[in-house]
Formats: sequence, C-alpha cells, structure tokens
Amino acid sequence: MTSSEPSSQKFSETFGHTERDLRVPQPFESPLYISPPLLPDREEYFSSLKEIFSSRTLTNMGQFHKKLESGIAARIGFGHVSLWNNGTIALIGALSQLELKGEVIVTPYTFPATVHAIALLGLTPVFADIDPWDMTLSAASVSDRITRKTSGILGTHIYGQPCDTASLHQIGKDNSLRIIYDGAHSFGRHQPIFSDEPGALGDVTMLSFHATKLFHSVEGGALITEDLDLDKRFRLARNFGIKAEDDVEGVGLNGKMSELHAAMGVHVLDKIDAEIEKRALLADEYISRLTGINGIRIVAGQGPSRQYFVIRIDAKAFGSSRNELHLSLREMNIMSRRYFYPLCSDIDVYAHLPSAKNLPNAKQAAEECLVLPLNGIMDSNAVGRVCETIMWHRKKKVSQSFL
Ligand SMILES: *Cc1c(COP(=O)(O)O)cnc(C)c1O
Repeated sequence: MTSSEPSSQKFSETFGHTERDLRVPQPFESPLYISPPLLPDREEYFSSLKEIFSSRTLTNMGQFHKKLESGIAARIGFGHVSLWNNGTIALIGALSQLELKGEVIVTPYTFPATVHAIALLGLTPVFADIDPWDMTLSAASVSDRITRKTSGILGTHIYGQPCDTASLHQIGKDNSLRIIYDGAHSFGRHQPIFSDEPGALGDVTMLSFHATKLFHSVEGGALITEDLDLDKRFRLARNFGIKAEDDVEGVGLNGKMSELHAAMGVHVLDKIDAEIEKRALLADEYISRLTGINGIRIVAGQGPSRQYFVIRIDAKAFGSSRNELHLSLREMNIMSRRYFYPLCSDIDVYAHLPSAKNLPNAKQAAEECLVLPLNGIMDSNAVGRVCETIMWHRKKKVSQSFL
C-alpha cells in the first residue's frame, strides 16, 4: 500500500500519531452500496420477455403473475398470498379493507410508507415507542397509547427482526384491535417471522419486493393473511373492486403487478437462496471483525432475513458519533445508510401530533443505527476494508480528542 504513504504521513503530522499500524484506507473505486438489486440471468429474463411478447398479455394477472404468486405462497408455506404492484399500495389496500376508524398505533422507527398508508386513508397515526434492544414496536408502549378511538396496531419487523407478535396478538384480542405488520424486510429466510404461531401474521402482513430488498420484482409487494375472507377482499381491492365484467363490489384501487415485473420476480426468486448464503458468510466476517469493539453493537445481520447488516454506535464509548462515521465512510465511497433517520414522528407532517413527542428509544435508535453494505456482489475483502475504515475512523477521532 505504498500509495497510501503520503496521506499516512500527513495524517501523523496532523494528529501527532505514531502508531505504525495506522494505515489510511484507500477509497473504493466505485461506490459500495448497501444492497444493489439482485439481477437474474439476463438470457433467462429475455426469454421470458419473448414469451410475454408472444402472449400479448402484459398485465391483469397473466401467467407470470400466477407463477410468482404461487411461488411466493409455496415458499411461505401457509396463509393466503396476494401479489401487488408495490408494498405501499399493498399496505393501503390492506388497511382499506380492515374497516379501521380513528387511530392506528404505529412505530415511528420505520420507512415513511408505513405511516403514510395510515394517513392517506384519513386515519390518525399514533406513535408508540420501540424496544431499545430489537427496535420493534414496544408492546408496553402500545398499551399506554390505546384509547377509545384506537382501531388497529401497525408494527414493522424492522431489519427483518420480528415484532413481539405474541404480546401484540394478546393486546389485539383484549381490545378488539386489528393487527397489521409491515414485513417489508422479512421475506427470504422468513422463519420464525412467518410461523403458524397464533397471531404471527397479525390480520395481515405486507411484504415489499422493491429493487432494494433482498427479493424483488423491480417494484412489487404482497399481502399474507390466514383469513380467507380477507384474502378475497384484498384481491377485489387490488383490481378496482371488480368481481366480474358487470359487477363492481366495493371501493378498490389498481394494485396489479405487470407481467414484466412478475417475470423478473420469477427469475430473482431462483437466486435468493444463493444470495442468502453469500450474505451469511459476509455477515459472519463483519461479526468476527466488529464484535467486542467498544461502542459498536451489532443489531441485525445474524437474524433470519439477511436483509441488512446494522450496527449501533454509542458515541461516548466509540469516540465518534454515528453521523461522523457515516461521513467518513462516504469519503471512502462506502455508501452506508442511516436507516431509519429521520424518525417518522419528526417528519413535518407528523411532528405536530401529540404522540410524536416522548419517544426516547426511537429517538436514540435513529441517532445511532447505521446500515453497512451487505450483498452478494461484494466479497469478504470488501467487508475487511469497510471494517478497517471503521477502525481507522475511530482511531482518528480518539487521537483528535487528545490533541
Ligand atoms: C421498502 C419499504 C416499504 C415500501 O415498500 P415499496 O414496495 O417500496 O412500496 C415500506 N416499509 C418498509 C419498512 C420498507 O422498508
């Protein structure tokens, strides 16, 4: 690493550092993203496109739609699965069929789509705090927020880590509330998230198949429910409420996935087990390098979904804030992401809500979590370089603080 010497020298001049092993890392030549889309075999996808051309069926639940819907259902193994054109529309469709009124208790520590789905239906989101350990909706905090106006609870299996579904199921039963899960991060190796434990799916669980997720169909999503009647309503809502040519039953939207998207999904589905295996090895490499470092807690990556590798930075113990580390990584072309910052409860449109205040665990998580690159097109050498950059950043900050 001779090319690093001039800057190394400059570094020790600036910071008076003499440690020999303090090598300045080299930036990645091209940006290292957290999860670039998993691509299918090009020829296989093109041959499916040829089929689509010959059939002239481009959408409206064609052959590829059917194939993908049944492929996903088979992988999950129970419940009724409907395929949608994206996760957000699927969630809006689901909520619209649950006859919710008034208030829906929701986690602030999620992607904005979770909360927007509630607001778009004219319902009031009520934020509850999260568990400080796994960062899913805290059942105790949910109980505190229940009022006579509450009609549902919406939790996110954040980073693929399951919510406390047993406690939420009980709360739902005791208070006659609908339970909905945003499982956008959960598809893949989904046990124990989608288990047949009572209430594990809630009334309905949404999945997202966006290009950034482990499994994707470019854009796409799904609903899983064990309630056959609800499943029928979801399918109607997905297609404008149209039951038959001359029979429109209820209010619906357009949630249909096109054949081009479904074909992508069919081929990507074949690839995800290999992708999960690759990610598991990389996650192990991260774990072995980052375990025991003061101020770093590994939050997700070992879990069932391998969707994200997430660390939490305790600024005091680590010697630097999460934001400073994030910037340092950016300088090295490592595109870590601050999921989920800002908190949904701090977004302008929701910050005025009374429940948006006093969410200390969520607030802290939003300041401390950092998602590191984890995907099958990187190798363990890249993981090593990311970890060395983290160590280098830490040493730099610690030595600065002694100046
Ligand atoms: C990606 C994501 C969504 C949105 O899904 P789309 O398919 O992009 O509409 C919703 N919730 C969470 C937690 C997500 O990560």
